[in-house]
Amino acid sequence: MKQTATFIPTLRETPADADVKSHQLLLRAGFIRQNTSGIYSFLPLGKRTLQKVENVIREEMEAVNSVEVFLPALQQAELWMETGRWYSYGDELMRLTDRNNRAFALGATHEEVITSLLRDEIKSYKKLPLNLFQIQSKFRDEKRPRFGLLRGREFLMKDAYSFHATTESLDDTYNDMMQAYTNIFTRLGLNFRAVIADSGAIGGKDNHEFMVLSDIGEDTIAYSDQSNYAANIEMAAVNVEYPVSNEAEKEIEKVATPNQKTISEVADYLNVSPEQCIKTLVFKADEDFVIVLSRGDHEINDVKVKHATGAKIVEMATPEEVLEQLGCEIGSLGPVKLKSPIRVYADHAVKSIVNGVTGANEAGFHFINATPEKDFSIDTFADLRFIQEGDASPDGEGVIKFAKGIEVGHIFKLGTTYSEPMKATFLNDQGRAMPYIMGCYGIGVSRVMAAVAEQFQDDNGFTWPDVIAPYEIHIVPVNMKDETQRELGEDLYKLLKSYRYEVLLDDRIERVGVKFADADLIGLPVRITVGKKASEGILEVKYRRTGETFEWKREELLDHLQ
Ligand code: ATP
Ligand code: MG
Ligand code: MG
Ligand code: MG
Repeated sequence: MKQTATFIPTLRETPADADVKSHQLLLRAGFIRQNTSGIYSFLPLGKRTLQKVENVIREEMEAVNSVEVFLPALQQAELWMETGRWYSYGDELMRLTDRNNRAFALGATHEEVITSLLRDEIKSYKKLPLNLFQIQSKFRDEKRPRFGLLRGREFLMKDAYSFHATTESLDDTYNDMMQAYTNIFTRLGLNFRAVIADSGAIGGKDNHEFMVLSDIGEDTIAYSDQSNYAANIEMAAVNVEYPVSNEAEKEIEKVATPNQKTISEVADYLNVSPEQCIKTLVFKADEDFVIVLSRGDHEINDVKVKHATGAKIVEMATPEEVLEQLGCEIGSLGPVKLKSPIRVYADHAVKSIVNGVTGANEAGFHFINATPEKDFSIDTFADLRFIQEGDASPDGEGVIKFAKGIEVGHIFKLGTTYSEPMKATFLNDQGRAMPYIMGCYGIGVSRVMAAVAEQFQDDNGFTWPDVIAPYEIHIVPVNMKDETQRELGEDLYKLLKSYRYEVLLDDRIERVGVKFADADLIGLPVRITVGKKASEGILEVKYRRTGETFEWKREELLDHLQ
């Protein structure tokens, strides 16, 4: 591609509203532009790199027999109602209506759509397993879109879904996908770990997150310095024996859907700041009262206050009623005393409590100055606490260290979480109708691109790894008005293209300083400078990542470039 024909609007200054390195440089090097909060356009270079990330993912998906499809982004609300997520997904789901006032969602994820698609088609165990993937824009109305592509409201995701007749078959596919993900992130040159993770809003059982180690990561990972043990801090509890029955867990799942309030709604209602609210809200569970407090998407946006009788929701309790019942006041930051010991029904509630008590993510976040046992009893959970740096690793090997991570991928064993409510069944080998056993597997394609951008750069610009650099070679004639230089530049451009190299030719009439600065900013792996020695047929070749420079004759170039 000739630079005069394409569109690479580079910037000299660092844009003021971009606060992480990848975002700054993606803007400066002309890869992306912001349209509005969390929504971006990919310019020609950005689009090429994004597509290369996609291709690596595609190849590794196909290698484990995952097959590409393309599902609708516009999804009728009825599907989401079948699983209850229309009510439980919350404000992140972009909702709209058509001209006939029929409700729709813009796809935030596709479990419902794909399950509904297959339930009418795959009726026999003989057609299972099946593993399908797509690469498509997802829409999530993130509360705090930030860090450029890392947390967008419209972003590109690869999502795969697998369907099985047996749990053994799901286990096999899950392992295949784990391997595929490992290959993908390795090929992209990322420094990552697969960590044990919490299942969050998608629901389900076993799951792993793929975390790129980075100081700007929003998650904290606990890992062993000597073994493969690694877990999201939300999951890494020690001394845990959840004294919670499956029955009880089910119960809280049932009450955990409608009538949720976010912390900001509760805070608005109480007319206090969210921080104030979180500091003074305490939670408790007894026979007819369940409050689940969790950190949600790493923000204080997920306080769920529910008034329940058994498994049936009666009515939302107001925070004031909660506080009155608990005997504490808004603004009282001292030790919190509860009237009765906390009893919890489900392990995610336990985690929340422990989280607050120990300040695993942020010290004293939920309970200020409250000490377990001293200020209140947490009954049978007294031994339960989150893992800390310096603890022995739960697998007995090594010591726990903490690191920050960017979640680039997430794989789940869903089991029958979706197929059961959606009545998506097949006939097993005994002729009995059984719900599909499912898995789901996501990668944030655009987030991955930003994670690589964060890692591959120096003071002058990008140092893209070969696999996803927008072009392989940048030819820079120093002076386009010099006929010898211009002709040699164009000759090389044709030559390299005929050998299937992806080449960008800087055919602009610009000062050499500008050309070099732009070339460094864009960061293609190889730069070929055509300057004064062009008359002798000599070129300067510079490798962007190492800074190594060579003077080669035109005739030697192809041999050397291998
Ligand atoms: P996060 O915890 O960062 O909000 P998530 O757990 O909500 O992510 P998943 O539902 O697991 O995300 O989606 C699969 C993948 O999609 C994630 O692992 C991540 O790489 C990517 N992803 C999720 N939300 C965003 C976003 N707002 N912008 C860009 N990529 C995203
Ligand atoms: Mg999220
Ligand atoms: Mg997450
Ligand atoms: Mg996730």
